[in-house]
Amino acid sequence: NKFEELGLNAEIVNAVRDMGFEAPSEVQEKAIPVLLEQETDLVALAQTGTGKTAAFGFPLIQKINPQSKQTQGLILSPTRELCLQITNELKNYAKYIPQLSTVAVYGGASISDQERQVKRGAQIIVATPGRMKDMVGRRMIDISNIGYCVLDEADEMLNMGFYEDITEILSHTPKEKKTWLFSATMPKEVARIAKKFMKDPQEITV
Ligand code: AMP
Repeated sequence: NKFEELGLNAEIVNAVRDMGFEAPSEVQEKAIPVLLEQETDLVALAQTGTGKTAAFGFPLIQKINPQSKQTQGLILSPTRELCLQITNELKNYAKYIPQLSTVAVYGGASISDQERQVKRGAQIIVATPGRMKDMVGRRMIDISNIGYCVLDEADEMLNMGFYEDITEILSHTPKEKKTWLFSATMPKEVARIAKKFMKDPQEITV
């Protein structure tokens, strides 16, 4: 199995089989072994539709300790739709890891409902920057122990004016965490974020 050869464990490989993925896409082939084997930051240039959600989602799920209820991974994404889409995909990928819980946090919906979901245990949070900044600032979410932060569609998030929110959110995360940045393009604002928040990132382009 090609996914097994990338280093993915049986739970994920079985979920991949159920989804009918036959072989890894290019971005998955390039990113997954790096993220699994090297504890490193990553900058990946990849468009939507290339399979990038699984390229960061599989390694992230494999790195999470499902025995601990603490929030361990954060994915920031530009819109509510994307947030929900990523959350659904991650739930599919983790279907054979029943203790793993992924919660979506986004604006335009009840903050207390989202707080309740997070309090029940959310090893992975998928969030839009505005709502996330709000909830972290109000101590509804604790990201002081996360190991991994994914910035998905970084160019879009910056286009939408989320630079300050992202900076504020990242200031609540530990220095030792790893940051995985995915972007379709590399304008200077994205390069600036990478330079400011990442350390010796591996770079891949598809
Ligand atoms: P994304 O670029 O992450 O939005 O993924 C685009 C679509 O491709 C999603 O519907 C995925 O479920 C699907 N997909 C991701 N990886 C694979 C793969 N290796 N084989 C077939 N489909 C895939």
